[in-house]
Amino acid sequence: MEPPAVLMPLRRWMTSDPLTAGPSETLREVLQRMRRHRVDVLPVTLGGSVLGLVRCTDLLHRTMTEDASADLQAMARLPVADFLSDAVCVPADLTEVEALRRMRAAGVAVLCVVEGGRLIGTLSEGDLAGFLIERWTGGSARRASSRSGNQLDVLLRVARESSRSLELATILQEITRHAVAALPIDQSALLLLPAKDSPLLVVHSLYSIQEEGHPPLEELSLEGTLSGWVTLQRRSLRIDDLDREARFHDSPERFSGRMRSLVSAPLLFRDECLGVLNFWCHRPHAYLDSDLELVELIAGHISAAIQSARRVEREQRLVEELREVNRIQDEFLAVATHDLRNALQGVLAYIGILAVRAGDDPVLAELVGNLASASSGMKTLITDLHDLARLGMRAIRLHPTRLDLKKLALSVLDQHAEFAREEEVHLTWPEHEPSLFLEADPVRLRQVLSNLVSNAIKYNRPGGRVEVRWRQEDQEAVLEVWDNGVGIKPEHQEAIFDLFRRVASSSRKAEGSGLGLTITRQLVDLHGGRIELNSEVDRGSLFRVRLPLHRIPEQERAILEPLPPRPGA
Ligand code: ADP
Repeated sequence: MEPPAVLMPLRRWMTSDPLTAGPSETLREVLQRMRRHRVDVLPVTLGGSVLGLVRCTDLLHRTMTEDASADLQAMARLPVADFLSDAVCVPADLTEVEALRRMRAAGVAVLCVVEGGRLIGTLSEGDLAGFLIERWTGGSARRASSRSGNQLDVLLRVARESSRSLELATILQEITRHAVAALPIDQSALLLLPAKDSPLLVVHSLYSIQEEGHPPLEELSLEGTLSGWVTLQRRSLRIDDLDREARFHDSPERFSGRMRSLVSAPLLFRDECLGVLNFWCHRPHAYLDSDLELVELIAGHISAAIQSARRVEREQRLVEELREVNRIQDEFLAVATHDLRNALQGVLAYIGILAVRAGDDPVLAELVGNLASASSGMKTLITDLHDLARLGMRAIRLHPTRLDLKKLALSVLDQHAEFAREEEVHLTWPEHEPSLFLEADPVRLRQVLSNLVSNAIKYNRPGGRVEVRWRQEDQEAVLEVWDNGVGIKPEHQEAIFDLFRRVASSSRKAEGSGLGLTITRQLVDLHGGRIELNSEVDRGSLFRVRLPLHRIPEQERAILEPLPPRPGA
């Protein structure tokens, strides 16, 4: 049959299989490989780059005349250009037919393909014949003629499959299921390196197409095994006939010698080799170079999938660890603040006695007054910290009852009347607004409102105003605390709800811990409500709390569930 008119450049068919020699190999090993593959010239490579070429006759000469441990690296230092005129070196854009002609003329079984003076690969007679037969017979010599279409299809499916699951055994099974459409596969395996410098490969998953079950194979050493070679060399490998491949003849992955041909690719991610992907076939000469390329691409997808599975696992572990650290901290804080509060209770009692004893002594009375104010500030801080720790531990349970929001608002305003007078801030409320009933925890809701009212007074100016109002909107009770104080910058309006977040929005030195709004928001959350803020610098702020009128049963459960992490909290 006549060859087709348009011929492919050689570059497309060039082999990338290990028809090379490593500088550390002995002459005997290299010669054996040359004989096995019937080649006269081999490139010597180091770390993926070609050092030069060695010729069979030169090697034989050395072994016979000198000692057999001659330095292969030194021998390979022949510049590639020296071979250019030689019939064994051909340019990469030569056609297949011309390449075959040159092979025959030179009587060699392998051509070195050179581009721009550099050796870029080798091409064997077998490869070339396989490709030519496949082309001239419309592809029927191997598989369907739509093979490249198949390969694309397989790759697409592989990409989809490898990102769908985090379970590697499932990934391999699905990938193998898709890959059989384009490759002859009797067995596939995914082997992973458990750690960076591990001397062993762990067989992560084995998958057999025809047979149920497979031989037990759990670990393989890197030394002396086929997969180990691929891992250490970080190079893919195609072996046409393992029976003729002395290096890996006894490799345990041959499954008692049943496997004859193989394509194997390292799972590379950046500069790390994560493991190996292998496909085997019972019959020899089952794989082409283009199959190897396909397997390399598949391996790339698997590496990415492994990396993302490992990242997710690492992140989950980190989140668990952080949760545990938080839990321990909250527990410690809860116990410590509980004990501190009890101790302080005693101190406050003594301060009460001292205040009585101070009598008319103005100096002593002032000292006791200062002591009392510092201690009560400390008590507020300790109580806030205690609440926060218990909220973090989800130890705060609400005790909701039906309560009147108006009554609660008036009582809180009354409680802050003295403070407002000191700060020269005027407190107001809508006197004619009727009562509004809702189901809420009276103690915790008072805490919410107290914090908002005291902030509204604190971050205000002499002559300023604070108003508390309430109303019903659909099934919600709306509670508002408005002030015409210093206001909050837009960029701080979310941050002030974060732990210990205080902002320099005030020109006045207001005392505080930065815990109040964090606790307030969490207590509102526990009630199934939400808190909103409108504020403008120098014009004032409006804190609006929306609470369901009736408690929803789900909320009870939500209290026991972990709270969603709050950004920045
Ligand atoms: P604290 O008042 O103890 O500092 P909070 O958590 O209650 O802690 O408040 C956090 C910060 O939010 C305050 O430091 C203040 O800067 C700002 N803030 C709260 N309420 C107001 C308000 N009504 N007007 C202006 N700034 C406010």
